[in-house]
Amino acid sequence: MKFNLRSFFSNDLAIDLGTANTLVYAKNRDVILNEPSVIAIRKHDQEIVAFGKEAKEMVGRTPGEIITVRPLKDGVIADFELSEQMIRHFIRKTMVTRIPRPRIAICVPSGITDVEKRAVRDSAEHAGAREVYLIEEPMAAAIGLGLPIDQPVGSMVIDIGGGTTEIAVIAMYGIVNAVSIRIGGDEMNNAIIQYFKKTFNLLIGENTAEDIKCNLGSAAPYENKGEMVVKGRDLVIGIPKTVTITSKQAQEALTEPVNAIVDSLKMCLENTPPELSADILDRGILMSGGGALLKGLDERLRKETNLPVIVAEEPMLAVARGTGKVLEDMAKYRRVLTHIKRY
Ligand code: ADP
Ligand code: MG
Repeated sequence: MKFNLRSFFSNDLAIDLGTANTLVYAKNRDVILNEPSVIAIRKHDQEIVAFGKEAKEMVGRTPGEIITVRPLKDGVIADFELSEQMIRHFIRKTMVTRIPRPRIAICVPSGITDVEKRAVRDSAEHAGAREVYLIEEPMAAAIGLGLPIDQPVGSMVIDIGGGTTEIAVIAMYGIVNAVSIRIGGDEMNNAIIQYFKKTFNLLIGENTAEDIKCNLGSAAPYENKGEMVVKGRDLVIGIPKTVTITSKQAQEALTEPVNAIVDSLKMCLENTPPELSADILDRGILMSGGGALLKGLDERLRKETNLPVIVAEEPMLAVARGTGKVLEDMAKYRRVLTHIKRY
C-alpha cells in the first residue's frame, strides 16, 4: 500500500447511528467505539451526566432526579438536541487530533425524514466535520456484508436493530424495494415485560428483559431447556419477588414481535421482481443487527421462506464496517451517498 500522509493522519470517521448502539469506525483502524445510544440527564437543570455505557447502566436504577433517554429510540430522531449532543460526544471522544477536520460518513435509519437528516448533518458539522455524507442503513449493511451491490444481481438483507427492522433488496447501487417496520429488539424487550406482568404479576426493568431475551429467549420452534431466575417487583403487594421463567415461556413471550418480523420479510419477498427473486433463491438472505442473534430466528426465517438464511459474522458490526468501507473508497461508492451540501 502506498504511504499516504494525509490518510495516515486523517480523522475521517464512519458512524453507525443506531437506535440501540452507536459505533464509530476510523479510517484504517476498524471499529474504535461501540456504546449504547443512551444519555443520562439531571432533571432540574437538564445537565447531561453520562453518555453511552455509563448511562445505560443507570437505566431504571436512577433516583427520580436523573433520567435516561434514548434520543433515537423508535428509529427516528426523537430528540434533536440530545441526538446532536450524543453525536458530538462520540465524535470528540474518537478524534485523534483536531486538524485536519474529518470527513464523516454517517449511516442513518432509512425511514428518517429530510429534516432529521439535516439535523444529523448539522450535529456532525458542529462537532468539527469538514464534509458529511449520509448513507442508508440497508445499503451500509449490504456493503459491510460484502454483497455485490455494484452488480445487476439481487441481494437481500434483513437488519434487526433496537428500534427497527429494515429489509431490503439491493442491486446496482440502489435499493430496489424495502420494508421498514418499527419493531426490533426494543419491542422484544417490551413483549417480555408485558409477559411478566400478565403471567407473574411481576414488574421487571428494561435491562432485565433484555438480559432474558439474549440469554434465554428464542424464536419458535427452537428448543432450549434452560431457565432463569428473575427479580422484580410484585404488582399486587408491591414488594420485591423472585420467579423462574423457562425458555419455553421466554419463547412464547416473543411470539408477536417475531411474527411481525417474519410477516414483513414475506411481504418484501412478495414485492420483489421475479428476476431478483431468482437471485435470492440462489444466494439467500443475509441477517445483520443485534436482533439477528436471537436464537432460532434464522432457522425460523428459513422454514417460513424456504430460502437460505445466513447470519452475518459479527452482525452488530456489519453496518459500521459497511459505512467504513464507503469512507475508505468514496469514489467507488459515490452513488450510494447522499452528500448533503452546505447552504
Ligand atoms: P441498532 O442498530 O438499532 O442500534 P443493534 O444492531 O446494535 O441496533 O442491535 C441492538 C439490539 O440487538 C438490542 O435490542 C439488543 O437487545 C439486541 N441483541 C443483542 N444481542 C442479542 C442476542 N444475543 N439475542 C437477541 N437480541 C440481541
Ligand atoms: Mg443498526
